[in-house]
Amino acid sequence: MKRYSAFAIAREALTNHLGWGRAWQAATPKASYDVIIVGAGGHGLATAYYLGKNHGITNVAILEKGWLGGGNTGRNTTIIRSNYLQDPSAAIYEKSRSLYETLSQDFNYNVMFSPRGVMMLAQTHHEVRGYQRTAHANALQNVSTEFITPARVKELCPILNIDGPRYPVLGALWQARGGTGRHDAVAWGYARACSAMGMDILQQCEVTGVRSEGGHVTGVETSKGPIACKKMGIVVAGHSGQVADMAGFRLPVEAVALQALVSEPIKPCMDVVVMANTVHGYMSQSDKGEMVIGGGTDGYNNYTQRGSFHHIEETVRALIETFPMISRLKMLRQWGGIVDITGDRSPIISKTPLENCYVNCGWGTGGFKAIPGSGWATAQMVARGEPGPLAEEFSMYRFREGKFIDESVAAGVAH
Ligand SMILES: Cc1cc2nc3c(=O)[nH]c(=O)nc-3n(C[C@H](O)[C@H](O)[C@H](O)COP(=O)(O)OP(=O)(O)OC[C@H]3O[C@@H](n4cnc5c(N)ncnc54)[C@H](O)[C@@H]3O)c2cc1C
Repeated sequence: MKRYSAFAIAREALTNHLGWGRAWQAATPKASYDVIIVGAGGHGLATAYYLGKNHGITNVAILEKGWLGGGNTGRNTTIIRSNYLQDPSAAIYEKSRSLYETLSQDFNYNVMFSPRGVMMLAQTHHEVRGYQRTAHANALQNVSTEFITPARVKELCPILNIDGPRYPVLGALWQARGGTGRHDAVAWGYARACSAMGMDILQQCEVTGVRSEGGHVTGVETSKGPIACKKMGIVVAGHSGQVADMAGFRLPVEAVALQALVSEPIKPCMDVVVMANTVHGYMSQSDKGEMVIGGGTDGYNNYTQRGSFHHIEETVRALIETFPMISRLKMLRQWGGIVDITGDRSPIISKTPLENCYVNCGWGTGGFKAIPGSGWATAQMVARGEPGPLAEEFSMYRFREGKFIDESVAAGVAH
Protein backbone atom coordinates (compact mmCIF):
# COMPACT_ATOMS: atom_id res chain seq x y z
CA MET A 1 0.00 0.00 0.00
CA LYS A 2 1.34 3.39 -0.97
CA ARG A 3 1.91 5.78 1.96
CA TYR A 4 0.18 9.12 1.64
CA SER A 5 2.53 12.04 2.36
CA ALA A 6 3.63 15.40 1.03
CA PHE A 7 6.55 13.61 -0.67
CA ALA A 8 4.16 11.17 -2.34
CA ILE A 9 2.07 14.05 -3.69
CA ALA A 10 5.18 15.75 -5.05
CA ARG A 11 6.42 12.49 -6.60
CA GLU A 12 3.05 11.77 -8.20
CA ALA A 13 2.86 15.31 -9.55
CA LEU A 14 5.80 14.42 -11.82
CA THR A 15 3.70 11.71 -13.51
CA ASN A 16 0.38 13.57 -13.64
CA HIS A 17 -0.90 11.66 -10.62
CA LEU A 18 -1.37 8.52 -12.69
CA GLY A 19 0.53 6.31 -10.26
CA TRP A 20 -1.86 6.28 -7.30
CA GLY A 21 -3.05 2.73 -6.76
CA ARG A 22 -6.48 1.66 -5.57
CA ALA A 23 -7.10 2.47 -1.92
CA TRP A 24 -8.38 -1.10 -1.42
CA GLN A 25 -8.24 -4.10 -3.72
CA ALA A 26 -11.25 -5.57 -5.49
CA ALA A 27 -11.41 -9.20 -4.32
CA THR A 28 -13.10 -12.42 -5.41
CA PRO A 29 -14.37 -14.73 -2.69
CA LYS A 30 -12.11 -17.57 -1.51
CA ALA A 31 -13.68 -20.90 -0.58
CA SER A 32 -13.16 -20.28 3.11
CA TYR A 33 -11.93 -17.79 5.70
CA ASP A 34 -11.02 -17.85 9.37
CA VAL A 35 -13.52 -15.06 10.01
CA ILE A 36 -16.39 -13.68 7.95
CA ILE A 37 -17.75 -10.30 8.94
CA VAL A 38 -21.17 -9.56 7.44
CA GLY A 39 -21.60 -5.83 6.79
CA ALA A 40 -18.97 -3.37 5.56
CA GLY A 41 -20.21 -0.40 7.53
CA GLY A 42 -17.91 1.31 10.01
CA HIS A 43 -18.46 -1.29 12.75
CA GLY A 44 -17.85 -4.29 10.47
CA LEU A 45 -14.73 -2.76 8.94
CA ALA A 46 -13.41 -1.65 12.34
CA THR A 47 -13.97 -5.15 13.73
CA ALA A 48 -11.95 -6.61 10.86
CA TYR A 49 -9.23 -3.99 11.25
CA TYR A 50 -8.70 -4.65 14.99
CA LEU A 51 -8.85 -8.43 14.39
CA GLY A 52 -5.78 -7.93 12.22
CA LYS A 53 -4.08 -5.16 14.14
CA ASN A 54 -4.65 -6.35 17.72
CA HIS A 55 -4.98 -10.11 17.29
CA GLY A 56 -3.03 -10.99 14.13
CA ILE A 57 -6.06 -12.56 12.42
CA THR A 58 -5.99 -11.52 8.76
CA ASN A 59 -7.63 -14.38 6.87
CA VAL A 60 -10.83 -12.35 7.01
CA ALA A 61 -13.57 -11.44 4.51
CA ILE A 62 -15.93 -8.53 4.96
CA LEU A 63 -19.15 -9.15 3.01
CA GLU A 64 -21.24 -6.21 1.90
CA LYS A 65 -24.50 -6.41 0.01
CA GLY A 66 -24.15 -2.89 -1.41
CA TRP A 67 -21.10 -0.67 -1.39
CA LEU A 68 -18.88 -0.22 1.64
CA GLY A 69 -20.01 2.56 3.94
CA GLY A 70 -23.30 2.82 2.00
CA GLY A 71 -25.44 2.01 5.05
CA ASN A 72 -25.80 4.27 8.08
CA THR A 73 -22.06 4.90 8.17
CA GLY A 74 -22.28 7.03 5.04
CA ARG A 75 -25.60 8.60 6.02
CA ASN A 76 -25.05 9.98 9.47
CA THR A 77 -24.42 13.46 10.81
CA THR A 78 -21.04 12.45 12.28
CA ILE A 79 -21.38 13.67 15.85
CA ILE A 80 -18.69 12.22 18.11
CA ARG A 81 -19.04 12.47 21.88
CA SER A 82 -18.77 10.22 24.94
CA ASN A 83 -20.90 12.01 27.55
CA TYR A 84 -23.08 9.02 28.41
CA LEU A 85 -24.52 8.34 31.83
CA GLN A 86 -23.87 4.68 32.59
CA ASP A 87 -20.37 3.34 33.28
CA PRO A 88 -20.26 0.68 30.51
CA SER A 89 -21.40 3.26 27.94
CA ALA A 90 -18.96 5.93 29.05
CA ALA A 91 -16.16 3.35 28.90
CA ILE A 92 -16.77 2.21 25.32
CA TYR A 93 -17.71 5.63 23.91
CA GLU A 94 -14.70 7.29 25.55
CA LYS A 95 -12.41 4.53 24.27
CA SER A 96 -13.84 5.25 20.86
CA ARG A 97 -13.50 9.01 21.12
CA SER A 98 -9.91 8.65 22.24
CA LEU A 99 -9.14 6.32 19.30
CA TYR A 100 -10.61 8.97 16.98
CA GLU A 101 -8.02 11.44 18.27
CA THR A 102 -5.22 9.55 16.46
CA LEU A 103 -7.14 7.60 13.83
CA SER A 104 -5.84 9.65 10.89
CA GLN A 105 -2.24 8.99 11.97
CA ASP A 106 -2.95 5.29 12.65
CA PHE A 107 -4.40 4.87 9.15
CA ASN A 108 -2.16 7.34 7.31
CA TYR A 109 -5.54 8.55 5.99
CA ASN A 110 -7.30 11.75 6.97
CA VAL A 111 -10.62 11.04 8.70
CA MET A 112 -10.98 14.75 9.43
CA PHE A 113 -11.68 14.29 13.14
CA SER A 114 -12.60 17.75 14.35
CA PRO A 115 -12.89 18.04 18.14
CA ARG A 116 -14.75 21.32 17.93
CA GLY A 117 -16.92 20.71 21.00
CA VAL A 118 -20.45 19.37 21.41
CA MET A 119 -23.14 21.01 23.52
CA MET A 120 -26.44 19.47 24.51
CA LEU A 121 -28.83 22.25 25.46
CA ALA A 122 -30.87 22.01 28.64
CA GLN A 123 -34.20 23.72 27.97
CA THR A 124 -36.32 22.36 30.81
CA HIS A 125 -35.55 21.98 34.52
CA HIS A 126 -35.76 18.24 34.07
CA GLU A 127 -33.02 18.41 31.44
CA VAL A 128 -30.89 20.62 33.70
CA ARG A 129 -31.06 17.98 36.43
CA GLY A 130 -30.42 15.17 33.92
CA TYR A 131 -27.35 16.81 32.37
CA GLN A 132 -25.93 17.90 35.73
CA ARG A 133 -26.23 14.29 36.82
CA THR A 134 -24.44 13.17 33.64
CA ALA A 135 -21.66 15.73 34.20
CA HIS A 136 -21.14 14.35 37.74
CA ALA A 137 -21.15 10.77 36.44
CA ASN A 138 -18.67 11.72 33.69
CA ALA A 139 -16.31 13.22 36.28
CA LEU A 140 -16.20 9.83 38.01
CA GLN A 141 -15.71 8.05 34.69
CA ASN A 142 -12.75 10.20 33.59
CA VAL A 143 -14.81 11.66 30.76
CA SER A 144 -14.17 15.35 30.50
CA THR A 145 -17.48 17.26 30.39
CA GLU A 146 -19.01 20.21 32.22
CA PHE A 147 -22.39 21.81 32.74
CA ILE A 148 -22.18 25.37 31.42
CA THR A 149 -24.31 28.49 31.91
CA PRO A 150 -26.53 30.13 29.26
CA ALA A 151 -24.01 33.01 28.99
CA ARG A 152 -21.22 30.54 28.15
CA VAL A 153 -23.53 28.82 25.64
CA LYS A 154 -24.04 32.17 23.90
CA GLU A 155 -20.32 32.89 23.98
CA LEU A 156 -19.52 29.52 22.34
CA CYS A 157 -22.29 29.80 19.76
CA PRO A 158 -23.32 33.42 19.16
CA ILE A 159 -25.94 32.55 16.50
CA LEU A 160 -27.97 30.65 19.09
CA ASN A 161 -31.10 32.30 20.47
CA ILE A 162 -30.88 31.52 24.18
CA ASP A 163 -34.14 33.30 25.00
CA GLY A 164 -36.17 30.82 22.91
CA PRO A 165 -39.82 31.61 22.21
CA ARG A 166 -40.94 28.42 23.91
CA TYR A 167 -37.94 27.04 25.80
CA PRO A 168 -35.15 29.39 26.92
CA VAL A 169 -31.70 27.83 27.23
CA LEU A 170 -31.03 27.09 30.91
CA GLY A 171 -27.52 25.69 30.41
CA ALA A 172 -25.84 22.89 28.48
CA LEU A 173 -23.78 19.75 28.86
CA TRP A 174 -20.53 20.65 27.10
CA GLN A 175 -17.86 18.23 25.90
CA ALA A 176 -14.97 20.26 24.54
CA ARG A 177 -13.18 17.28 22.91
CA GLY A 178 -16.33 15.98 21.23
CA GLY A 179 -16.92 16.98 17.63
CA THR A 180 -17.30 15.51 14.17
CA GLY A 181 -15.41 13.40 11.64
CA ARG A 182 -15.75 12.62 7.96
CA HIS A 183 -17.99 9.54 7.81
CA ASP A 184 -16.94 8.25 4.37
CA ALA A 185 -13.28 8.70 5.23
CA VAL A 186 -13.71 6.61 8.38
CA ALA A 187 -15.12 3.74 6.30
CA TRP A 188 -12.52 4.22 3.56
CA GLY A 189 -9.63 4.48 6.02
CA TYR A 190 -10.60 1.21 7.70
CA ALA A 191 -11.16 -0.45 4.31
CA ARG A 192 -7.77 0.64 3.03
CA ALA A 193 -6.04 -0.62 6.17
CA CYS A 194 -7.92 -3.96 6.07
CA SER A 195 -7.04 -4.44 2.42
CA ALA A 196 -3.40 -3.67 3.18
CA MET A 197 -3.43 -6.49 5.76
CA GLY A 198 -4.59 -8.89 3.03
CA MET A 199 -8.27 -9.04 3.99
CA ASP A 200 -10.93 -9.38 1.28
CA ILE A 201 -13.64 -6.74 1.06
CA LEU A 202 -16.42 -8.26 -1.04
CA GLN A 203 -18.89 -5.65 -2.20
CA GLN A 204 -22.17 -6.54 -3.94
CA CYS A 205 -22.02 -9.79 -1.97
CA GLU A 206 -25.24 -10.22 -0.03
CA VAL A 207 -25.51 -12.87 2.66
CA THR A 208 -28.70 -14.76 1.92
CA GLY A 209 -28.36 -17.68 4.30
CA VAL A 210 -26.29 -19.00 7.21
CA ARG A 211 -25.07 -22.61 7.25
CA SER A 212 -24.74 -24.29 10.61
CA GLU A 213 -24.15 -27.75 12.04
CA GLY A 214 -24.55 -28.84 15.65
CA GLY A 215 -24.81 -25.26 16.96
CA HIS A 216 -21.79 -24.06 14.94
CA VAL A 217 -21.75 -21.77 11.92
CA THR A 218 -19.95 -23.45 9.04
CA GLY A 219 -20.40 -20.77 6.41
CA VAL A 220 -22.75 -18.45 4.59
CA GLU A 221 -24.77 -18.49 1.38
CA THR A 222 -24.18 -15.36 -0.62
CA SER A 223 -25.15 -13.80 -3.93
CA LYS A 224 -21.63 -14.82 -5.06
CA GLY A 225 -21.96 -18.42 -3.88
CA PRO A 226 -21.31 -20.26 -0.61
CA ILE A 227 -18.31 -19.30 1.55
CA ALA A 228 -17.10 -21.35 4.51
CA CYS A 229 -15.79 -19.83 7.75
CA LYS A 230 -14.54 -20.78 11.20
CA LYS A 231 -16.13 -17.76 12.88
CA MET A 232 -18.73 -15.22 11.85
CA GLY A 233 -19.59 -11.70 12.98
CA ILE A 234 -22.98 -10.16 12.15
CA VAL A 235 -22.53 -6.38 11.93
CA VAL A 236 -25.41 -5.18 9.77
CA ALA A 237 -27.17 -2.46 11.84
CA GLY A 238 -30.76 -2.10 10.59
CA HIS A 239 -30.70 -5.56 8.99
CA SER A 240 -29.53 -7.39 12.12
CA GLY A 241 -32.93 -8.97 12.71
CA GLN A 242 -32.97 -10.41 9.19
CA VAL A 243 -29.47 -11.91 9.30
CA ALA A 244 -30.06 -13.25 12.82
CA ASP A 245 -33.22 -14.86 11.48
CA MET A 246 -31.09 -16.62 8.82
CA ALA A 247 -28.89 -17.91 11.64
CA GLY A 248 -31.95 -19.12 13.55
CA PHE A 249 -32.21 -16.75 16.50
CA ARG A 250 -34.05 -13.55 17.36
CA LEU A 251 -32.56 -10.25 18.48
CA PRO A 252 -34.13 -7.63 20.78
CA VAL A 253 -33.82 -4.83 18.20
CA GLU A 254 -36.20 -3.00 15.93
CA ALA A 255 -35.48 -1.20 12.68
CA VAL A 256 -36.70 2.32 11.96
CA ALA A 257 -35.75 5.06 9.53
CA LEU A 258 -33.80 8.03 10.86
CA GLN A 259 -33.27 11.05 8.68
CA ALA A 260 -31.03 14.05 8.15
CA LEU A 261 -30.73 16.98 5.78
CA VAL A 262 -28.20 19.59 4.71
CA SER A 263 -28.56 23.17 3.60
CA GLU A 264 -26.86 25.08 0.85
CA PRO A 265 -23.29 26.04 1.86
CA ILE A 266 -22.80 29.36 3.64
CA LYS A 267 -19.85 31.18 5.20
CA PRO A 268 -18.57 29.80 8.53
CA CYS A 269 -20.99 30.83 11.26
CA MET A 270 -20.85 28.06 13.83
CA ASP A 271 -17.80 26.12 15.04
CA VAL A 272 -19.43 23.82 17.58
CA VAL A 273 -22.08 21.09 17.43
CA VAL A 274 -25.39 21.99 19.08
CA MET A 275 -28.07 19.51 20.05
CA ALA A 276 -31.45 20.82 21.19
CA ASN A 277 -33.25 17.74 22.37
CA THR A 278 -36.35 19.35 23.87
CA VAL A 279 -37.39 21.06 20.66
CA HIS A 280 -35.74 18.17 18.82
CA GLY A 281 -33.15 19.16 16.31
CA TYR A 282 -29.39 19.42 16.10
CA MET A 283 -26.98 21.18 13.83
CA SER A 284 -23.33 21.63 12.93
CA GLN A 285 -21.57 23.20 9.98
CA SER A 286 -19.61 20.98 7.62
CA ASP A 287 -16.22 21.88 6.23
CA LYS A 288 -17.98 22.64 2.94
CA GLY A 289 -20.17 25.21 4.71
CA GLU A 290 -23.42 23.23 4.64
CA MET A 291 -25.51 23.23 7.80
CA VAL A 292 -25.86 19.55 8.75
CA ILE A 293 -29.20 18.93 10.41
CA GLY A 294 -30.54 15.84 12.10
CA GLY A 295 -34.10 14.91 12.76
CA GLY A 296 -35.93 12.16 14.58
CA THR A 297 -36.75 8.53 13.99
CA ASP A 298 -39.97 7.41 12.39
CA GLY A 299 -42.60 6.31 14.87
CA TYR A 300 -43.08 2.93 13.21
CA ASN A 301 -40.80 0.10 12.05
CA ASN A 302 -39.70 0.27 8.46
CA TYR A 303 -36.81 -0.34 6.08
CA THR A 304 -37.02 2.79 3.94
CA GLN A 305 -33.78 4.70 3.43
CA ARG A 306 -35.48 8.03 2.96
CA GLY A 307 -36.84 10.91 4.95
CA SER A 308 -40.43 11.93 5.52
CA PHE A 309 -41.80 15.42 5.10
CA HIS A 310 -43.43 15.86 8.50
CA HIS A 311 -40.08 15.15 10.21
CA ILE A 312 -38.33 17.76 8.12
CA GLU A 313 -41.00 20.27 9.01
CA GLU A 314 -40.74 19.49 12.75
CA THR A 315 -36.95 19.56 12.75
CA VAL A 316 -36.61 22.73 10.74
CA ARG A 317 -39.23 24.45 12.91
CA ALA A 318 -37.24 23.48 16.03
CA LEU A 319 -34.00 24.76 14.56
CA ILE A 320 -35.42 28.06 13.36
CA GLU A 321 -36.52 28.91 16.89
CA THR A 322 -33.06 27.92 18.13
CA PHE A 323 -31.09 29.60 15.31
CA PRO A 324 -33.35 32.30 13.79
CA MET A 325 -30.64 33.28 11.29
CA ILE A 326 -31.13 30.05 9.30
CA SER A 327 -34.77 30.83 8.46
CA ARG A 328 -33.96 31.83 4.87
CA LEU A 329 -31.56 28.98 4.12
CA LYS A 330 -32.45 26.59 1.33
CA MET A 331 -32.23 22.91 2.07
CA LEU A 332 -30.24 20.92 -0.49
CA ARG A 333 -30.61 17.24 0.31
CA GLN A 334 -32.39 14.92 2.71
CA TRP A 335 -31.96 11.19 3.20
CA GLY A 336 -32.58 8.41 5.67
CA GLY A 337 -30.86 5.37 7.14
CA ILE A 338 -32.22 2.24 8.80
CA VAL A 339 -31.19 2.27 12.42
CA ASP A 340 -31.33 -0.63 14.87
CA ILE A 341 -32.78 0.36 18.22
CA THR A 342 -32.83 -1.60 21.46
CA GLY A 343 -35.19 -1.10 24.40
CA ASP A 344 -32.58 0.52 26.66
CA ARG A 345 -30.98 2.53 23.80
CA SER A 346 -27.64 0.75 24.33
CA PRO A 347 -25.87 -1.47 21.82
CA ILE A 348 -25.45 -5.23 21.68
CA ILE A 349 -21.95 -6.75 21.45
CA SER A 350 -22.62 -10.35 22.19
CA LYS A 351 -22.17 -14.04 21.78
CA THR A 352 -25.20 -15.75 20.26
CA PRO A 353 -26.89 -19.15 20.56
CA LEU A 354 -24.47 -20.36 17.84
CA GLU A 355 -21.08 -21.17 19.37
CA ASN A 356 -18.86 -19.34 16.85
CA CYS A 357 -21.23 -16.57 15.78
CA TYR A 358 -21.09 -13.08 17.29
CA VAL A 359 -23.26 -10.03 16.88
CA ASN A 360 -22.68 -6.29 17.02
CA CYS A 361 -25.76 -4.12 16.60
CA GLY A 362 -28.21 -1.83 18.38
CA TRP A 363 -26.18 1.36 17.91
CA GLY A 364 -29.38 3.03 16.87
CA THR A 365 -29.14 6.75 16.26
CA GLY A 366 -25.65 7.12 17.70
CA GLY A 367 -23.15 4.55 16.50
CA PHE A 368 -20.86 6.58 14.25
CA LYS A 369 -19.01 7.91 17.28
CA ALA A 370 -18.59 4.37 18.55
CA ILE A 371 -17.01 2.81 15.46
CA PRO A 372 -13.37 2.53 16.68
CA GLY A 373 -14.24 1.42 20.23
CA SER A 374 -16.90 -1.00 19.06
CA GLY A 375 -14.56 -2.53 16.48
CA TRP A 376 -11.88 -2.87 19.15
CA ALA A 377 -14.25 -4.62 21.58
CA THR A 378 -15.92 -6.83 18.97
CA ALA A 379 -12.59 -7.96 17.53
CA GLN A 380 -11.48 -8.96 21.03
CA MET A 381 -14.66 -11.01 21.51
CA VAL A 382 -14.37 -12.72 18.10
CA ALA A 383 -10.66 -13.48 18.57
CA ARG A 384 -10.92 -14.83 22.13
CA GLY A 385 -14.43 -16.26 21.98
CA GLU A 386 -15.45 -14.27 25.06
CA PRO A 387 -16.29 -10.57 25.47
CA GLY A 388 -13.61 -8.44 27.10
CA PRO A 389 -14.19 -5.68 29.68
CA LEU A 390 -15.48 -3.14 27.13
CA ALA A 391 -18.14 -5.49 25.76
CA GLU A 392 -19.20 -7.78 28.59
CA GLU A 393 -22.12 -5.64 29.81
CA PHE A 394 -23.58 -5.36 26.31
CA SER A 395 -24.72 -8.97 25.99
CA MET A 396 -28.03 -9.50 24.18
CA TYR A 397 -29.12 -11.61 27.14
CA ARG A 398 -29.29 -8.54 29.41
CA PHE A 399 -32.88 -8.02 28.29
CA ARG A 400 -33.80 -11.47 29.53
CA GLU A 401 -31.99 -10.83 32.82
CA GLY A 402 -33.31 -7.26 33.29
CA LYS A 403 -29.80 -5.75 33.38
CA PHE A 404 -30.62 -2.75 31.22
CA ILE A 405 -28.04 -0.06 30.46
CA ASP A 406 -30.52 2.78 30.35
CA GLU A 407 -29.26 5.54 28.08
CA SER A 408 -32.61 7.02 27.12
CA VAL A 409 -31.40 10.47 28.23
CA ALA A 410 -28.08 10.28 26.37
CA ALA A 411 -29.22 8.37 23.31
CA GLY A 412 -33.02 8.34 23.10
CA VAL A 413 -33.16 11.48 20.99
CA ALA A 414 -29.56 12.56 20.71
CA HIS A 415 -26.99 11.22 18.29
C1 LIG B 1 -29.58 10.13 9.55
C2 LIG B 1 -28.65 9.52 10.56
C3 LIG B 1 -27.93 10.35 11.41
C4 LIG B 1 -27.04 9.80 12.35
N1 LIG B 1 -26.27 10.64 13.08
C5 LIG B 1 -25.33 10.13 13.91
C6 LIG B 1 -24.43 10.99 14.58
O1 LIG B 1 -24.46 12.20 14.41
N2 LIG B 1 -23.51 10.44 15.41
C7 LIG B 1 -23.44 9.08 15.61
O2 LIG B 1 -22.62 8.66 16.42
N3 LIG B 1 -24.26 8.24 14.95
C8 LIG B 1 -25.20 8.71 14.10
N4 LIG B 1 -26.03 7.87 13.42
C9 LIG B 1 -25.96 6.42 13.66
C10 LIG B 1 -24.81 5.78 12.91
O3 LIG B 1 -24.83 6.17 11.57
C11 LIG B 1 -24.91 4.27 12.99
O4 LIG B 1 -25.09 3.85 14.33
C12 LIG B 1 -23.63 3.60 12.48
O5 LIG B 1 -23.24 4.15 11.26
C13 LIG B 1 -23.86 2.12 12.33
O6 LIG B 1 -22.75 1.58 11.65
P1 LIG B 1 -22.79 0.06 11.23
O7 LIG B 1 -21.49 -0.26 10.65
O8 LIG B 1 -23.28 -0.75 12.38
O9 LIG B 1 -23.99 -0.01 10.16
P2 LIG B 1 -24.05 0.36 8.62
O10 LIG B 1 -23.14 1.46 8.27
O11 LIG B 1 -25.50 0.50 8.28
O12 LIG B 1 -23.45 -0.94 7.95
C14 LIG B 1 -24.13 -2.17 7.89
C15 LIG B 1 -23.88 -2.73 6.51
O13 LIG B 1 -24.40 -4.05 6.45
C16 LIG B 1 -24.83 -4.27 5.12
N5 LIG B 1 -25.74 -5.42 5.08
C17 LIG B 1 -26.99 -5.49 5.57
N6 LIG B 1 -27.50 -6.70 5.34
C18 LIG B 1 -26.54 -7.41 4.69
C19 LIG B 1 -26.49 -8.73 4.16
N7 LIG B 1 -27.51 -9.58 4.26
N8 LIG B 1 -25.34 -9.12 3.54
C20 LIG B 1 -24.27 -8.28 3.43
N9 LIG B 1 -24.30 -7.03 3.89
C21 LIG B 1 -25.42 -6.60 4.53
C22 LIG B 1 -25.49 -2.95 4.75
O14 LIG B 1 -25.59 -2.79 3.34
C23 LIG B 1 -24.58 -1.94 5.41
O15 LIG B 1 -23.61 -1.41 4.53
C24 LIG B 1 -26.93 8.39 12.47
C25 LIG B 1 -27.66 7.55 11.63
C26 LIG B 1 -28.50 8.11 10.65
C27 LIG B 1 -29.27 7.19 9.74
